[in-house]
Amino acid sequence: MADNAIPATLIEGDGIGPEITAAVVELLDVLGAPFAWDRQSGGLAGIEAHGVPLPEPTLESIRRTGLALKGPLTTPVGQGFKSVNVTMRQEFGLYANLRPTKTVVSGCRFDNIDLVVVRENIEGLYAAMEHYLPDGDDPKGLAYGAGFNSRRECARIVRFAFEYALANGRKKVTLVHKANILKIFSGIFLEEGRRVAAEYAGRIAVEERIVDACAMQLVTDPWKYDVIVTTNLFGDILSDLTAGLVGGLGMAPGANIGTKAAVFEAVHGSAPDIAGQGIANPLALLMASSLMLAHVGRFDLSHRLDDAIEKVVHRDSVRTRDLGGQATTKELTQALAQALR
Ligand code: NAD
Repeated sequence: MADNAIPATLIEGDGIGPEITAAVVELLDVLGAPFAWDRQSGGLAGIEAHGVPLPEPTLESIRRTGLALKGPLTTPVGQGFKSVNVTMRQEFGLYANLRPTKTVVSGCRFDNIDLVVVRENIEGLYAAMEHYLPDGDDPKGLAYGAGFNSRRECARIVRFAFEYALANGRKKVTLVHKANILKIFSGIFLEEGRRVAAEYAGRIAVEERIVDACAMQLVTDPWKYDVIVTTNLFGDILSDLTAGLVGGLGMAPGANIGTKAAVFEAVHGSAPDIAGQGIANPLALLMASSLMLAHVGRFDLSHRLDDAIEKVVHRDSVRTRDLGGQATTKELTQALAQALR
């Protein structure tokens, strides 16, 4: 291992995972990225090798490296396995979910979009506190659900968004909430958001937006937005909405940042319908690796990678079928490698 190598766990994943991971690793090699990969299994491959979708050697590797690039994992249905994402969130305290959205392919619904959604990842309505209650004669006639937002976590996610904005040359953070109706549950996020935002006065602009108005503006005038920070459920919905603005999930990278590790991945799944055909789009995972480079402070390499994607996909129109092109995974990878050399 070279002196400056950064150990990182690599989970190639299921379905199209091996194809797109191979493409990304090849391109990172051409780029001269500093990662020394520790290859581990997950998903169906994890079940085959160790009997569980997130085996102990994989968890142990991430504990050691604190850094992982993860291909899509197939979720086995009806076998009682705990969700891989939930396990990772709990194990590594992955409190921040970062979803940048950028136009790469013009001719999609919107051009020149460049915004980021920062979603709180461990609290809110996803605490899964829900059960049935009786309603008249029906013992399951009412569904009850509850959630919680702590001041500590609200402050931490907003601070994360401002620090991300500073580190990445962003100008504005929008606090997205529903405090007009959920005066306490969402109000606590807004209160903490305002308090933290004051610390960045004069450096990063702040604005507040009610989530429903935000959803509308993201469709009518998405260029208004720079960095959006919000609670779990709102962030989940808005980040899929923003992916839809720029070509869908095949173009959507995601980062899960925690206290003990950071895990980078494509937002899409294992695409079993096209697995093994050599036509999968590797760009979402490649963009996730660009986020990973920025995360370890290699903004130079991250920018070079982004520029190569912009050149090949946007200007030279080398695109896979999901983006309306004809290129295979291999042809796109070769064109990107050429641009990086
Ligand atoms: P999916 O994202 O795998 O596929 C949806 C559609 O998008 C399919 O038609 C697929 O061919 C296409 N697609 C997705 N990624 C593509 C790519 N890179 N290039 C070209 N086309 C692409 O969603 P799904 O079918 O609902 O899920 C399949 C499996 O993936 C399920 O087991 C699901 O649980 C899992 N999943 C995993 C993750 C993850 O690991 N992060 C995320 C979502 C779904």
